[in-house]
Amino acid sequence: MYIAGGETLFVQHLGITGARTLDYFKKHMTGYRAAQKAAGMTTEAIIDEVKRSWLRGRGGAGFPTGTKWSFVPKTTAQKYLVCNADESEPGTFKDRAIIRNMPHMLVEGMIIAARAIGASRGYIYIRGEYEEEAGILEEALKEARDAGQLGKVDIFVHRGAGAYICGEETGLLNSLEGLRGEPRDKPPFPAVKGAFDGPTVVNNVETLACIPSIIMNGGAWFAGLGRIEKSGGTRLVGVSGQVNRPGLYEIPAGGATIREIIYDICGGIADDRQLRAVIPGGSSTPPLSADEIDVVYDIEPLACAGSMLGSAAMIVVSEDYCLVRLLERIVLFYERESCGQCTPCREGVAWARKILSRIERGTGTDRDISLLLSVADSINGKALCALGDAAALPIMGFVKKFRADFEAHVRGGRCPGA
Ligand code: SF4
Repeated sequence: MYIAGGETLFVQHLGITGARTLDYFKKHMTGYRAAQKAAGMTTEAIIDEVKRSWLRGRGGAGFPTGTKWSFVPKTTAQKYLVCNADESEPGTFKDRAIIRNMPHMLVEGMIIAARAIGASRGYIYIRGEYEEEAGILEEALKEARDAGQLGKVDIFVHRGAGAYICGEETGLLNSLEGLRGEPRDKPPFPAVKGAFDGPTVVNNVETLACIPSIIMNGGAWFAGLGRIEKSGGTRLVGVSGQVNRPGLYEIPAGGATIREIIYDICGGIADDRQLRAVIPGGSSTPPLSADEIDVVYDIEPLACAGSMLGSAAMIVVSEDYCLVRLLERIVLFYERESCGQCTPCREGVAWARKILSRIERGTGTDRDISLLLSVADSINGKALCALGDAAALPIMGFVKKFRADFEAHVRGGRCPGA
C-alpha cells in the first residue's frame, strides 16, 4: 500500500490486526457515528450532502452517486439497496481489501444509503470466489446487529457463483432473485424496477464505504480531497503487471498522472525494461501507448485520451510482452463469460477470438486484421449489455495503436514483444 499525498480514507487501515472488528471501527474510524448523524437528517439532506461531495461510482461507470439515489421514486413500495461486491473485472482487487480490513465501513455506508433511498432491506452480492470475505462480512453484520447498529435496515450477504456477468447490475439482480444471471433490458432501470420488482439502488463496495466520511465531515470536505473538478475523494488504484512495486494505492482523485503512478509510486518498470502499453482501468478499457502516459488518472482526462478509468485497475505491460497474445487472452475471457443472450456478443466475441488465435499462431493473413476490426465494430454499441463493448473496445484500441505487432505476426516477422 502507499499513500500518495493528502488525506486517505482506506490505506491506513490495511493490514492492521483487528482492524475489521467493531471495537477498532469505533476507536479509529467513524464507528457508526455517521449513521447516527444521518438518522437525524432528512433523506433529502443526506442526498444533497452526497451530491455536494462529487462522489462518483467506483465500480466502473463513474456516475454521480447522489444523483443516482435521487432517481428512486418517493413511493411507499418496498425498496432495496444492493451492494455490488462481485469485483470480477480482471486486474481489480480493491473491494476485497475494503471487505477484509474494514467491513464495518461498508456496513455503515449501507445503513446511511438505505436511509437516503428509503430501503429497509439491503443485500451484499459477493462473488463466489470470495469465500473468506463473505465470512468476514457475516461476522461484521452479526457484530453490528448484536450492537443494535443496523436499526430499521437488515442486510444480508448473498454469494454469487463466479460469473463475470453478474457484476453487471441487472445480471446481478437476476442472480439475486435466483434466476439465470443474464442482464435485463433497460429501461426500466433498477431505480424504478429492480430487485423483486421494487425500486433498487446498486452501488459498488468502495462507493458505499466512502459514505460515512462524507456524512461525518461534509460533502464539501470530500469534494476538496479531489484535485480535479467534478470528482471528489480519493481513489484506490490497483496496479498489476510488470512494475517493481505492484499493489493497492490510494491517491487523491485526479491527483496523479499515469507516469507518476508507474514511476514514482510503483518504482518503474521491472528489470529496467521499457514501458510498452498501459491498460488503465481493467481489462475492458482500451490501452494507452508509452507516449500517452502523461494523462491525469481520472474519469474525464482518460475519456479525452480515448480510454476509461473503469474500476481503477491499472495493468502495466513492458516491452518484452506480446500484445497480440495479451489481447487474445483478454478476448478469450470475454468469450467464456458471455451469457449468450444476444447475437453480436455471443457470436461476435467468439469469432474475434478465433481470428486473434490465428493471428497469434502466425497462421493469419493481412485480411484477418481488417476482419477482426470489422467484427469488433459489429459488436461495439450493438450488444445488450456492456460485456460486448468490453471485448470490442480493447480489440479496436490494440489494433489501432499497435498494428505493426499484428502485421508482424501475419507476415512472419519478429513480434516486437517476442
Ligand atoms: Fe449476454 Fe454478452 Fe449480450 Fe451482455 S452483451 S447480454 S453478456 S450476450
